[in-house]
Amino acid sequence: MKYQRVRGMQDLLPEDQPYWAHVEKACHDLAGRYGFERLEAPVLESTDLFVRGVGDATDIVSKEMYSFVDKGEDALTLRPEFTAGVMRAYIENGMGSRPQPQKLYSFGPIFRRERPAKGRYRQFYQFNAEVIGTPDALADLEIMQIAHGLYSRLGFTNLVFQLNSTGDPECKPRFIQALRDYFTPLMDRLAPLDRERLAKNPLRVLDTKERETLPLLADAPRFVDYLNAACAEHFAELRAYLDDAGIRYEINHRLVRGLDYYTKTVFELWGEGLGAQGALCGGGRYDGLIEALGGAPTPGVGFATGIERIIMSMRELGVQPAPLPRPDVFIAHLGPAAKRVAVQLAAQLRAEGTGVRVAFGARSLKAQMKDADRAGCALALLIGDDEVRDGTVTARDLAHSEQATLARADAAGWIRAHLP
Ligand code: ATP
Ligand code: MG
Repeated sequence: MKYQRVRGMQDLLPEDQPYWAHVEKACHDLAGRYGFERLEAPVLESTDLFVRGVGDATDIVSKEMYSFVDKGEDALTLRPEFTAGVMRAYIENGMGSRPQPQKLYSFGPIFRRERPAKGRYRQFYQFNAEVIGTPDALADLEIMQIAHGLYSRLGFTNLVFQLNSTGDPECKPRFIQALRDYFTPLMDRLAPLDRERLAKNPLRVLDTKERETLPLLADAPRFVDYLNAACAEHFAELRAYLDDAGIRYEINHRLVRGLDYYTKTVFELWGEGLGAQGALCGGGRYDGLIEALGGAPTPGVGFATGIERIIMSMRELGVQPAPLPRPDVFIAHLGPAAKRVAVQLAAQLRAEGTGVRVAFGARSLKAQMKDADRAGCALALLIGDDEVRDGTVTARDLAHSEQATLARADAAGWIRAHLP
């Protein structure tokens, strides 16, 4: 075959859509109920926004971005995450002068050029929510609650957050120094990749998946032991809220998350059956980000979840989405005159709000009824020479094998009475 989809990208076919509609609706409903408003930034942003906002030592920026120079002028990138673009929009639209905090959410495609695998694509969708403009630990709780609420509603059970605090600009450097001091004497036992990380982004050594490094992590310094009073208090407050809300979590001292901008809270949620593909969602607080992007100092906290991974887990867990709406009525016709009546009747019924499918071509009644069945229509209207002459239709309730011939003007009423 000549054309194939780009590696790591997917076609979402009609049979996939009930899952997508189900999850997307849950996201919009929940966001609304928690008081989040939708903000959709463009898919394309300046490359520099992500270099600044995500950090050039991160995997995302150093390896995974789809970047290009537009007609020899602007360096652009297909967004590899939502937060930086949302913050750019917050600053650019002066949203800091609206009532704070601003609770914003987005839903759309994300692009990362990583090695494709099960649950790992190069274009995938995220639902992303942010609370911008308050340092209150209640905002961290609400972000974790909406994530938790989403998975509960979608049928996930045994939800346990992995939680850690990564301090602020005062205590984070102290912790990073402690990590350096701990790992430097162990340098020759570290995996080569982690030796590199130790130089460039030491926090990443903590969440390594490299076999050689793993045994060295047991005695590594723990963030909680380095938090200053303000960060420790914030962390304790969040844990108390989570306890009160009955949301389960485990403190995970190795959880640091990949992005440079996190301060204080970081969390992830892992799905059942996901195995090595990774997390269902991840998030945290980023109090320095807006300032780093040129805005006024503004705290924020947010999370993002991958829709494909949710759907993959739903399929594995056997969670069934509701079927999508489709036409209830099939109109079959025999002969050119009947076909013209059928087309008119279809237009009239559709205008009244009834879903209608009309047979194409000129085929036997048997073939048309087979189509009606395949299309899942519960009711059929048949029009032949007699019906054209008499101004009638023959109406058939397919599930109950009932049939009646009625005046065409009564078709709509009959349909209403017989809809499943
Ligand atoms: P991972 O550790 O699996 O690489 P991540 O930490 O890079 O995940 P985030 O940047 O936190 O992921 O993105 C949030 C969510 O987006 C993830 O929890 C996951 O559900 C989803 N996600 C991330 N990368 C991909 C991908 N390549 N394909 C599909 N979903 C993804
Ligand atoms: Mg990743």
